Amino acid sequence: MDTLRKLSILADAAKYDASCASSGSAKRDSVGGKGIGSTEGMGICHSYTPDGRCVSLLKILLTNVCQFDCLYCVNRSSSNVPRAKFTPQEVVELTLDFYRRNCIEGLFLSSGIIRSPDYTMEQVVEVARSLREDHDFRGYIHLKTIPEASESLLERAGRYADRLSINVELPTPQGLAQLAPEKDAPGIRRTMARLRLHIDEAKEAAQPAAMVSRAGGAPRRAKAPGFAPGGQSTQMIVGADDTDDRAILATSANLYGAYRLKRVYYSAFSPIPDAAKALPLRPAPLMREHRLYQADWLMRFYGFAHEEIVPSGAGMLSLDVDPKLGWALANRDRFPIDLNRAPRELLLRVPGLGVKSVEQFLQARRVRRLRVADLSTARVPLRKVLPFVVLADHSPGKALDAADLARRFTRAPAAAPAPVQGDLFAAMPA
Ligand code: SF4
Repeated sequence: MDTLRKLSILADAAKYDASCASSGSAKRDSVGGKGIGSTEGMGICHSYTPDGRCVSLLKILLTNVCQFDCLYCVNRSSSNVPRAKFTPQEVVELTLDFYRRNCIEGLFLSSGIIRSPDYTMEQVVEVARSLREDHDFRGYIHLKTIPEASESLLERAGRYADRLSINVELPTPQGLAQLAPEKDAPGIRRTMARLRLHIDEAKEAAQPAAMVSRAGGAPRRAKAPGFAPGGQSTQMIVGADDTDDRAILATSANLYGAYRLKRVYYSAFSPIPDAAKALPLRPAPLMREHRLYQADWLMRFYGFAHEEIVPSGAGMLSLDVDPKLGWALANRDRFPIDLNRAPRELLLRVPGLGVKSVEQFLQARRVRRLRVADLSTARVPLRKVLPFVVLADHSPGKALDAADLARRFTRAPAAAPAPVQGDLFAAMPA
């Protein structure tokens, strides 16, 4: 099979993996003619497939042959799809070739499991090793790790990769047992814990305390062995089983807390050919995925606890309004908030105010009283903010008590663009 055909099969097979952002990687460049590639500037080139998924041009699988039979996966062993396999050397050549043509700035490499987890992981690591050591490649490398792979292979992977990820796949261990019985939920968690340990150790070693002195010279900083400086991430499929949003966010909160993940990615389930009966016939709404990203943002940057975001008893996020607005509408007694007096954590709870605008207002109010004009200057959505705040020249009066307040927000503008899967920047709530 020629390389182009392999590429079309293995790039297509990789499109279901949403965890491809390049944030958090170490800065490297090839200024001065040393090495090839850079992690600075624009980051990885992303493109969007016609079905809205985010793909990088060189986001590929080493192989889509897999001995596992996870029901939700198009590459499962019982799936009737064309199969292909790259050698590590072919992936290295493709990466360098695409880089030189200015098509990519990094590599996202995952793989089906062939022969054994260690055999597969060895091949994946070999790609990264060769790029870094044989070709002095300084671009971004994200490796998907095989949970059951040995400790030494994980260590080597972290030495070469900017980011490592392991997919939890389903939001609950029960879901995983049902749809991917060959996968081991505790094993996935154990690998995450091991990665966290390595990442923490590498960070600690990079602290200023790690100074060594040269014989007769001034102390210099010891070069710490790096380990996945972009941290670790994971992905879960949403809507393949009946786990509700409240449980999904609880899982994410646990993953962020226990393993210090950089990101949890959510991927709305889309039906695959010859699907098993246990799977839904319809795709999960992209809006659900979008709302989960917004809720995730609230947990990471806005100080919301996961159990606050989805009201108990409801189970699901509203598809009509964003989670922050939903929370405000359900907790009207906490409003209005005085933008001239309230602390930062309360300002962050106001629908329509993002982290940046809150910082702006905190600065501005040191020297003057904030007025409606300040909101306009900061370009925050007045329609959304004003019912919830007090300003020097504004009070919402009875707006908060209006029975139809929620309905005013749910009348979505006809021209509002639908979010696309993987469009993480569109997911940021305000
Ligand atoms: S192990 Fe990975 S590639 Fe293989 S069937 Fe399961 S999800 Fe798909």
